[in-house]
Amino acid sequence: MAAAMTRRGRDMIVVLMGPPGAGKGTQAKAISSELGIVHLSTGDLFREAVRQGTPLGREAQAYMDRGELVPDSVTVAMLLERLDRPDAANGALLDGFPRTVPQAEALDQALAGRGQRVNLAIYLSVPREALLNRLSGRWICQGCGASYHEVFNPPTVQERCDACGGTLYQRPDDRRETAERRLDVYLEQTVPVIDYYRQRGALVEVNGDQPPAAVEEALRKALRARRTG
Ligand code: ADP
Repeated sequence: MAAAMTRRGRDMIVVLMGPPGAGKGTQAKAISSELGIVHLSTGDLFREAVRQGTPLGREAQAYMDRGELVPDSVTVAMLLERLDRPDAANGALLDGFPRTVPQAEALDQALAGRGQRVNLAIYLSVPREALLNRLSGRWICQGCGASYHEVFNPPTVQERCDACGGTLYQRPDDRRETAERRLDVYLEQTVPVIDYYRQRGALVEVNGDQPPAAVEEALRKALRARRTG
């Protein structure tokens, strides 16, 4: 077997993009462990800061409650600081970042300073109608972050996580009105980031409008092609 076939994801910076509800969180867990790189979700980092009541959390909460983006300066500083920790030294899977062109530019600049770059940007595409249905029935585990859907993927015991037994909760920003606002913000501010990576030859599109296992398989294929290509 060629050496390239066995190479792991080390030193890879992978960006996972897609609209809210595309399944980024679910898939990010699977592919970051496959690649052996840390999974960094700016949404999770903000939610943790809100839970802990830090100044960052208090600032972010108002934006999150409205379904809007936290300002770039705050988000970029938080992400770059997290990326500087030792567990991200050999690569990372970024989930929910960058979400604006200035964030993508700041990331490129910071990575260039470390001799790294975004090796791959994966765009998980899902039509808008499917997204609103997914978001409105979504339940998330407080313990491990696993995500369920009351119709499409219900837990065995109501409000309990199958994986860790944790309590499930509904994100306040998944309410229909806020979810619609998040989708609009995505179209305005994040769709240009997809073009940003497309123009740089780093983009791979994966159909996210299929069952989770099929999406995971398509992602693995895309990653294998990139690592051996
Ligand atoms: P989703 O992708 O389902 O909208 P996330 O968990 O990624 O959810 O993000 C939730 C919220 O956190 C966003 O609506 C936004 O307010 C904030 N947020 C997350 N990532 C970013 C980012 N890169 N830039 C600005 N705000 C962000």
